[in-house]
Formats: sequence, C-alpha cells, structure tokens
Amino acid sequence: MIITSSGELFSWSSSQRKFGVRVGLVPTMGGLHEGHISLVRAAGRDCGAVVVSIFVNPKQFGQNEDFNLYPRTLDADKNLVESAGLRDKVRLFVPSVEEMYPLGFDSVVHVGGVTGMLEGAFRPTHFDGVSTVVLKLFNISGADVAYFGLKDYQQVCAIRKMVADLNIPIDIVACPIIRGADGVALSSRNSYLSAAQRIQATVLSQSLLIAENLIVSEGCRDVGKIIGAVRDKILTAVDAKIDYIAIADTKNLKELKTLDNCPEAVILLAVKIETTRLIDNKIINIP
Ligand code: AMP
Repeated sequence: MIITSSGELFSWSSSQRKFGVRVGLVPTMGGLHEGHISLVRAAGRDCGAVVVSIFVNPKQFGQNEDFNLYPRTLDADKNLVESAGLRDKVRLFVPSVEEMYPLGFDSVVHVGGVTGMLEGAFRPTHFDGVSTVVLKLFNISGADVAYFGLKDYQQVCAIRKMVADLNIPIDIVACPIIRGADGVALSSRNSYLSAAQRIQATVLSQSLLIAENLIVSEGCRDVGKIIGAVRDKILTAVDAKIDYIAIADTKNLKELKTLDNCPEAVILLAVKIETTRLIDNKIINIP
C-alpha cells in the first residue's frame, strides 16, 4: 500500500489510466484526521484509483515555523486511510525529502495574484513551497483530479490559479471544512493545543457564526462593523493574538469594503492561541 519512489507511483498510476481508470490525488502532510479522510472518501467515490500523498514539505514552512515539530504519525495515518474502505484501489505515497528535492533541485513555481495577501503576507515563502510541491505531485501521480479542503481557502484559490495559468490537465475538487463537535476546524496543528487552549480555539468558528448572523439575519453590510464583532469575540480568548481578519471576494481574495450588491463573500481568519497558529474561514451567501 505504501510507495516511496516517484517512478513506482508513476508506473502504477499509468497502468491504471491505460485501462481507463480515473486517478484521484489527495495531497497531505500527514497527521491525518477526519478532514483529510473526507477528501479520501470523495476521491474514492469519483475515482477507480486513489493516491494519498503524505509529505511534510520543508519548502512551505518559514524559518521560524514548526517544520521539526509537525506531527509525523505514519502508522496511525495508514490505519485511518484504511478506515475509508478503499482497499486495493488506494496507494499511500510517502516520499523522503531527498526523493522530492534531490541534490541540485533548483526550481520554484510562483503563482501570482491570489498569494500575496492574507497567509502570503504573514508567510511570504509559503505559497511558493505549496505550488512547487503540488505541481510535482500532480506530475508524479499523473492524476486526473485532485482534492483539496476549503479549510485552506487561499490554497485552493492558488492551486486553481496555477492550474488555469499553466494549462495543467487536472480537475480540482474543493471539499467542505470538517469540524469537531465544538466547532473547531480539524487540523493537524490542533494536537499542539492543551485542553484549555482547545476551549479558547472555539472562538474562531464562533466568531464566524457571529459574522454570518450579522450579515444574513441582521442585514449588516458594513465590513468594519462585522470585522469589529469578529475581533471582539476572538479577543475573549485570553491567549488569542490575531494575525488577520478579512472579508474578501470569494474568487480573487481582494478585500471588500462593503457587502452592498455582493452575492457572496468569504471571511478569513488567522489567530494564534499562544504559539499555535490556526486558520479558519466561512463562505457567506449574502441574501
Ligand atoms: P494538510 O495536511 O494540512 O496540508 O492538509 C491536506 C489537505 O487536507 C488540504 O487540502 C487541506 O485543506 C485539507 N484539510 C485539512 N483540514 C481539513 C478540514 N478540517 N476539513 C477539510 N479539509 C481539510
């Protein structure tokens, strides 16, 4: 079930496609949870062959970020993927850093337009790392379709733009955010939170619900007022530090000044609970 060599994965996927089997790719960094498995299930429904990649990509972490600390839980990941019930049609691709970036590797994929703001402003090298590894994974897996979570909203925008700009022959499917019973969006980084911090982390999703209520039920169109209400809720958590709160166009991620005459918008947040940086977002259909 586990493949570590790019050549071997490409051969497996090519032999599937030769027989007309649609190949789906689910790129992950491991530390798998039900959010990831929802993508695996979606791929299993649509495709006769599924590749789940697990690669903690050093190029998408900044210098002072958590690359070394990032959860590496391969045995548990394997069990979770098996629990999706895809049996023989799934392969785990678990390459080493040397396999992905051999000595002399020296290329970068830079996607413009949707990567400079929000996450890109706080993590300037992040999206180059993401697009570089994702394009490699597209090519190595030869996938017909790739699955991404809306949890990383800006990432989905960046991948769609890369695919459109570079004419990459792959379909992109974006899947809904999976949350815990307390509303917290599932994330591998939630494992860094203590029990008390986990309770504090609920302010992210709660603040998004407050914003939705203001817009949809109370008819508020004043972006400043909505962001203020979101901020007030988040700051009820004593250890919360806000990186950004933004209300943006769902397609190009440009910040909106007003919601007048706007059919939908996305609210995006990045908040540190002590040292754990969490992101969340919500698409709002504006009546
Ligand atoms: P990661 O391992 O964090 O790089 O995530 C791999 C993929 O899983 C990305 O497309 C994420 O957006 C997606 N993902 C992570 N958490 C969730 C979640 N709670 N719900 C849905 N998708 C998720």
